[in-house]
This record gives sequence, structure tokens and C-alpha cells, in this order.
Amino acid sequence: MSKHPGNPYWCQTHDNPTGIYTRGDWDEAVAGGHITPEHVWERLYRIAIGEFGVMGPAGYDEDGFFLSLTAEGLVGSPCRSPVFV
Ligand SMILES: [Zn+2]
Repeated sequence: MSKHPGNPYWCQTHDNPTGIYTRGDWDEAVAGGHITPEHVWERLYRIAIGEFGVMGPAGYDEDGFFLSLTAEGLVGSPCRSPVFV
């Protein structure tokens, strides 16, 4: 059973958050009321990664968003979360 049924930013299959990697998508999700505590936690995790300079496959800015515009290609990709997978 999904914790957040009907949430487009939530993977209903695996019951974990899909990544919201850009400010625009985040704002959209906020506007739609789709941000869950899990999304906030995941973003804080990305901010922490940025703070400590631990760069994975992509760099994050101080707000936890991808620095690269190629993040657009990741929008909606399920199960990308480094926290919940
Ligand atoms: Zn999934």
C-alpha cells in the first residue's frame, strides 16, 4: 500500500519518493501539495552532500538542486533516491 497514493512525485510501485531535482519541479510540487516529509528529507540529504563536497554523479547547489541542466532528463525517473532506495 502506497504511503502517498495519487502523488505524481511518489513511486507507487516501490513506495518511495521520486527525485525532484530542479527548483522548477520543486515549486510545482509544492504548488500541487505533493511534497511529502520524505521529499524534504531527500532534499536535505542532497544539501548535506553539497555542503560536504561529496559529489556523486552530479553536483548539487546549496539548495539541493542539480547544478546541471541535464537534470531535466531525470525528472520523473522513479527510484532515484539515494536515501530511500
Ligand atoms: Zn519504483
